[in-house]
Amino acid sequence: MEIYRDSFFPGPTSVPEDVLKIGLKNFGSADIEPEFLELYYKCTDNLKLLFNTNNDVVVMSGEGMLALWSGIKSCLTKDDKVLVLSTGYFGSGFADMAKCIGCKVEKIEFPLDCSFEDYDLIEDKIRQFKPKMITAVHCETPSGILNDLTVIGKLKAQYNIPLLCVDAVSSVGATNVDVDKHNIDICFGGSQKVLSTPPNACFLSVSNNAWKYAQDINYQGYDALIPFKQAPKTGNFPYTPSWINVAQLYQASKDILDEGLENVVARHKLCSKMTIDLLKKTGIKLFPKKEEYSSPTVTAAYVPEKYSWQEFDNMLRKQGICIGGNFWGLAGKVFRIGHMGSQAYPNNIEKLCGLL
Ligand SMILES: *Cc1c(COP(=O)(O)O)cnc(C)c1O
Repeated sequence: MEIYRDSFFPGPTSVPEDVLKIGLKNFGSADIEPEFLELYYKCTDNLKLLFNTNNDVVVMSGEGMLALWSGIKSCLTKDDKVLVLSTGYFGSGFADMAKCIGCKVEKIEFPLDCSFEDYDLIEDKIRQFKPKMITAVHCETPSGILNDLTVIGKLKAQYNIPLLCVDAVSSVGATNVDVDKHNIDICFGGSQKVLSTPPNACFLSVSNNAWKYAQDINYQGYDALIPFKQAPKTGNFPYTPSWINVAQLYQASKDILDEGLENVVARHKLCSKMTIDLLKKTGIKLFPKKEEYSSPTVTAAYVPEKYSWQEFDNMLRKQGICIGGNFWGLAGKVFRIGHMGSQAYPNNIEKLCGLL
């Protein structure tokens, strides 16, 4: 199915009209036109507001994974100690990435249907292991769980851990991502989730501390972060930036700020509640162990027993509705309703009534 009539897919989400229209313009060269730099600054200023940070924000051409690789490869080197806090697929992914670089990795793995449940365990590990970096995922998209970062942020400061790295790809723009309050050094965002632009851009916030490590390590590559320190000032990007991508990201971030971030946050919470209530009515069991773990951007639930995932998916597709399946340990068992960005409107959720 090339086009979904009604998308509840947890990314890429459907692109709204005003953002789609921007793609119809024939932009000039982002390498030479000063208007591009102006737009880049306006875009990163908006993204700083979504991240609640005064740190620099960098925009790259490529989806979320590019930002993750950029942050990890630029700020870590062989034998660095990394503590990975995992409640699922993306959380664990950080361990694999850090291992690729030859880091010494310790992982605390909580069950897939849980959030960070045991802060004493985390604190003990931080105290004993003294990592250079702690990694965490804000919204674990495959399991529909939003992890609270308050305690992790406090522990990072209390134990003087150099770097806290957070994946907020499927939460930024829809929840309060408090980069500065939670002492987050590197925070990742993507374009195709809450911002509802095509899967073509990603962004990350970078603290002074993170820049310092990136400068020391001086990692070079297509995904290297360090060229982006000076690029917005000099206009010398390491490769031609995609003007369309930045223009779409700017429009999407502007739409959120025009509506008011708090209003957008409330809209996502309402859609999450409506979805959970709908599941309760139909007797479908929520996947997160506790309702309060559920992310305002995506609801994960068990595939109803009378169907296989394929049958369930086909049944909904026949009605013009596309929801998300799953992968890894959750394949075939857990499905997802993505209510983020353009899909987080009550009248959209109502379309699911009577169908599940
Ligand atoms: C979508 C997503 C990513 C990035 O994946 P892409 O395929 O590059 O979009 C990373 N982390 C989380 C939590 C995500 O939901």
